Amino acid sequence: MKEVRDEAVVLRTYRSGESDRIVVFWGRESGKMRSIAKGVRKPGSKIGGGLEPLAHVDVYLAQGRGDLRIVRQATHRNRFAVVKASFDRINAGYAIVEAVDAIPADDVPDEAIFTMLVRALETLDREEFFPTLVPAAFFLKLLAHDGSEPVVDFCVNCQSPGPLVAFDAANGGTTCAQCRTGRSLSAGALSLLRRLCGGDLASVLREENPPAGGEVAALAQESLERHFGKRLKVARSTPATEH
Ligand SMILES: [Zn+2]
Repeated sequence: MKEVRDEAVVLRTYRSGESDRIVVFWGRESGKMRSIAKGVRKPGSKIGGGLEPLAHVDVYLAQGRGDLRIVRQATHRNRFAVVKASFDRINAGYAIVEAVDAIPADDVPDEAIFTMLVRALETLDREEFFPTLVPAAFFLKLLAHDGSEPVVDFCVNCQSPGPLVAFDAANGGTTCAQCRTGRSLSAGALSLLRRLCGGDLASVLREENPPAGGEVAALAQESLERHFGKRLKVARSTPATEH
C-alpha cells in the first residue's frame, strides 16, 4: 500500500474501535481505496468533518499496514450544500456511492468512473434538476461504461423491433410480445428508458415527475444489481415515486 495524494469521493465510512473510522474512497487516479482515520471520532479531531459519505475531497493517505492506508489529511473541494439540504437528494447520493462501492475492484484506477461519480453528485447539487432519476441515469451510465447498457430498441431474444412489451434484466433489455420474458414494461417506461439511454438526460431531469419514473428507476437498478451480482440496499429503501 503506497502513500497516495489524490482527489477522491467518500463512498462509505464505518466505526472502528474506540475512536477510529474506516473510510472507503474512490480516487481520481487511484480507484477504490480503503483507509483508516485514527482518532477521528474524538472531539477536536482535525480531519473528522471531511470524511462523511458524498464528500469530495483532496486526501493524503499515508502507507499503512495490511490493506488499510492511514488518512493524514482531507480537505473539502465541494460541500454539496444543495444536496445536504434535502433528504431526497442525500438518499439519491447515497444510492450513487453505494453503486460505486459495489464495483468489485480495490486499487484499480478508473478515472472515467470518478468523473461520472463527481458529475452525478454535481447534478444532484443543482436545484433545477430533480433528484428522482439521477441514480437510475447513473446506473445506466455505469452499465454502459462496462459495455452492458440495456438494449432498448429491439427484442434481446429474437431481435424483432417490437412491439416491445417487457424488460428482461437478466438478458439485458427489452423483449417483444412473442418472447415476453422478464417483467412487463409500460409504453411510458419504454419511452423514458430510451430518453435516458439516448442522451436526453438533462431534459428528463428537469421534469418533476416524468411518467413511469419509478418503473424505470427499478429497471435500471435491477440491471445494475444483476451486472454486479449484488443487491443495492440504499437504493432499494428509497421510495420510488409513481405518478
Ligand atoms: Zn422477441
